[in-house]
Amino acid sequence: MKLSQRAKNLEPSVTLAAAAKAKALKAQGRDILSLTVGEPDFDTPENIQQAAIAAIKSGKASFYTPSAGIPELCQAVTDYLKRNYGLTYDTKQVIVTDGAKFALYALFQAILDADDEVIIPLPYWVSYGEQVKLAQGKPVFVEGKPENHLKVTVEQLEAVYSPKTKAIIINSPSNPTGMIYTKEELQAIGEWAVAKDILIVADDIYGNLVYNGNHFTPITTISEAIRKQTIIVNGVSKTYSMTGWRIGFAVGDEEIIQAMIDIASQSTSNPTAASQYAAVEALVGPQDSAEKMRQAFEERLNKLYPLVAAIPGVELSKPQGAFYLFPNVKGTMDLCGYSDINDFVEALLEEAGVALVTGAGFGAPEHLRISYAADWETLEKAVARIHSFVENKQRK
Ligand code: PMP
Ligand code: GLU
Repeated sequence: MKLSQRAKNLEPSVTLAAAAKAKALKAQGRDILSLTVGEPDFDTPENIQQAAIAAIKSGKASFYTPSAGIPELCQAVTDYLKRNYGLTYDTKQVIVTDGAKFALYALFQAILDADDEVIIPLPYWVSYGEQVKLAQGKPVFVEGKPENHLKVTVEQLEAVYSPKTKAIIINSPSNPTGMIYTKEELQAIGEWAVAKDILIVADDIYGNLVYNGNHFTPITTISEAIRKQTIIVNGVSKTYSMTGWRIGFAVGDEEIIQAMIDIASQSTSNPTAASQYAAVEALVGPQDSAEKMRQAFEERLNKLYPLVAAIPGVELSKPQGAFYLFPNVKGTMDLCGYSDINDFVEALLEEAGVALVTGAGFGAPEHLRISYAADWETLEKAVARIHSFVENKQRK
């Protein structure tokens, strides 16, 4: 059977592939420390687990739900946006999805025609470009420069704008860089997008994971005009340690959301019912467990950052949010005699027993991504192994 061109052109997720490879090696008995996938290493908080169990026991979780999600969760999402950011939305402007990943997928399916362009700041999260391509669109990458902490500017956006430009993705705090756009930067980008009539896709999934006094500004809070031009994408995976439950959501223009609901009705039908009841508890229940996890990430970042920055040849600004370090390791590779990041990452896996993700999948092949969503013992050991690996290679 011949595969479709679409399937043949697809680049599978490098983050999930690296994690799967590390898991398979571990299962063979190899001593591998995996800092690959970005998922919190904590149990989902007890109150959230109990909400799912109660939904199952009461029979509520046995059935299909509306394709938009259960009304209680749509309401919990609008209440959350009101409570945390003062944003007012109607529940008709909400779709609950199978993870934020499917919210993005359905969104691109809903808004893109063939060859429509989506501006994607680089480095980018691995799925954006592929999802745009699956919707027959064209990703247009704009490279954030090191002097601007890998963030893009309006001048750069203006340079790639074309009449085909349909949307721009803003992911702040960023996966993979952990950097946050300031209010002023977002205002400039937002006003530019409004003037050009380009949809803003605000991937706010790391918005609660900010550290050391840094502040996350949702682009939707800057002005009413920008809010109207924006679709918010978010979910419970990262804040509440619920990656396996697969609940995300999108909020914004009712017509776009309705198109996404129709797409869901013909593809997933609805996200898992029990997970939706759990997500209601996550959003409206006590927030202390989420805050404890945030503090744990902050502590890890503060201890890990100097250790990674001290690896010979590494260039790294301290991230402000999310749970990744994204060092430029060009200098390190030079010292060790590697010219290709994939070879370097492969050698770290095979010789040092540390699994990481290459920056190539994020459009930045001089970088590697270290996820610190792992316990401190693993993180400390892994960085010590990377450091000795580099020192040994340097000596040779
Ligand atoms: N956006 C970004 C930037 C992410 O890192 C992730 C992580 N997988 C997602 C969206 C999707 O998250 P999920 O599907 O688990 O909600
Ligand atoms: N967003 C996470 C990561 O970047 C999860 C993996 C994925 O969905 O690609 O590692």
